[in-house]
Amino acid sequence: MPKYIFVTGGVVSSVGKGITVASIGTILKSRQISVTAQKLDPYINVDPGTLSPYQHGEVFVTQDGAETDLDLGNYERFIDVNLTAESNVTSGQIYRDVIAKERRGDFLGGTIQVVPHITTEIKERFKKLAEKSQADVIIIEVGGTVGDIEGQPFLEAIRQMRNDVGRGNVLYVHVTLLPYLTSTLELKTKPTQHSVNELRRMGIQPDIIICRSDYPIPEGTRDKISLFCDVNKEAVIPLTTVSSIYEVPLILEEEKLGQLIVDKLDLKAQLTDLSQWRELVARLKAPLEPITIALVGKYTELQDAYYSVREALRHAALYHNRDLNLLWVNSEDIERDGCDTWLRSAQGIIVPGGFGLRGVEGMIRAANYARNNEIPYLGLCLGLQVMVIEFARYVLGSEESNSSEFDAATSYPVIDLLPEQKTIENKGGTMRLGNYPCQLVEGTCAAKAYEQSLIHERHRHRYEFNNDFRTPLQEAGMVYSGLSPDGKLVEICELANHPWMVSCQFHPEFNSRLSRPNPLFRDFINAAKDVLREGAQPPLPLPS
Ligand code: GLN
Repeated sequence: MPKYIFVTGGVVSSVGKGITVASIGTILKSRQISVTAQKLDPYINVDPGTLSPYQHGEVFVTQDGAETDLDLGNYERFIDVNLTAESNVTSGQIYRDVIAKERRGDFLGGTIQVVPHITTEIKERFKKLAEKSQADVIIIEVGGTVGDIEGQPFLEAIRQMRNDVGRGNVLYVHVTLLPYLTSTLELKTKPTQHSVNELRRMGIQPDIIICRSDYPIPEGTRDKISLFCDVNKEAVIPLTTVSSIYEVPLILEEEKLGQLIVDKLDLKAQLTDLSQWRELVARLKAPLEPITIALVGKYTELQDAYYSVREALRHAALYHNRDLNLLWVNSEDIERDGCDTWLRSAQGIIVPGGFGLRGVEGMIRAANYARNNEIPYLGLCLGLQVMVIEFARYVLGSEESNSSEFDAATSYPVIDLLPEQKTIENKGGTMRLGNYPCQLVEGTCAAKAYEQSLIHERHRHRYEFNNDFRTPLQEAGMVYSGLSPDGKLVEICELANHPWMVSCQFHPEFNSRLSRPNPLFRDFINAAKDVLREGAQPPLPLPS
């Protein structure tokens, strides 16, 4: 019988509920308990695929091609599992499926209501994931904050689960914030009491309260929360803000959360082993030589838009014992000020994914700068398309080269839609999505990085390298180091006359882990770490 842990949030959003869920996964997995996770998103969109990164941050893509919430990225990185479409449920999906059943006649004669029809559909999603994953524990995060109108059916569904599967099989964890008042120099518990009251109003009594705070939480404050919220004191878990998210599982373990969950759910567990995680975090926190990488994108004001890219860079930097110094460069600033202003200290340049024309010319200039100055360059999806456009324009000399996404009338569409994409009208879920195989070409940077000939990586794009231009670009020095197994699609390109300029049509950032950086990121940092830029000094030989 699978056990369910439901995690709700109180007081405000963005207090790290997703990281908490991911960290609970880490500490359970460290006891040899199999875990999976699910995120419930109360919005009406069917998935975040059509949402602007400014509204939603990154769209995380699962290997089976679902466009999901970025929290799934943290679940994957922390629990080290590859999740599937079942791990992200939105209100939009639930309503769409219930309405489809109604139209089909499944409920003939009945009035369709939030309780029981919507809540039953939600509970089906819990059970479906439990069945498919066969995990011992399913951790389910309710998005948003307790009290939100849209979240009510989800709360009602998780309340019903206690009776459906038995009290001993369900645990409720509430994550709240203790705000600090500078006038009285104290942490306040009242908002937590209110959000717990709100939960109780829905019929849910939390078993565990995790208290986020920027300051250490005094014993008395824990006592107070225990008393007012009717939770054992050991189950009031302090979680103060830390410099690295990867430290959170260690803190929760220190506070004995793992043992508490094992006891409460009566789980079969081994002794916990977090030694590798502990060692990685210790290295992460130690002072390391910095490496400066510029990320040139157009959503740079909101770093969440590039969440997995940033994490993958961190993983790769740590692998080489470097501290990542990431410069967030808005490509429109490059268009205005030129490259040197923004990129002169960058030891490596990364151009990540993106959609639409705005900012693309700045990215092309960044690729041009990387090529001319022999600065390591990693292009991800749009970053590949930009690299190809730059090369076609300035090496082949066909000034007008472009992607038909940005200039539908160009005579040199080096990046174009595949014929099968041309007839698609719906925007949602119609791109090339999820894992696709890619055959690597021996002797190339890409093959050296992966050390194998066939790889699978996740995609999310509509446009592709246009094969009409394969030969001329190749003759000019472009190397196609990864192709689809049938040879029809260019998946990775690199340059012959450059120390390390590699781009891929897929998103390698999605499968990178702290203990196992993605090979392209790892080798990109390796190439960048020896590059000397303005302001840097070569290490002086010490007099003997
Ligand atoms: N806009 C480009 C396309 O649709 C690139 C997409 C991306 O970078 N994810 O092909």
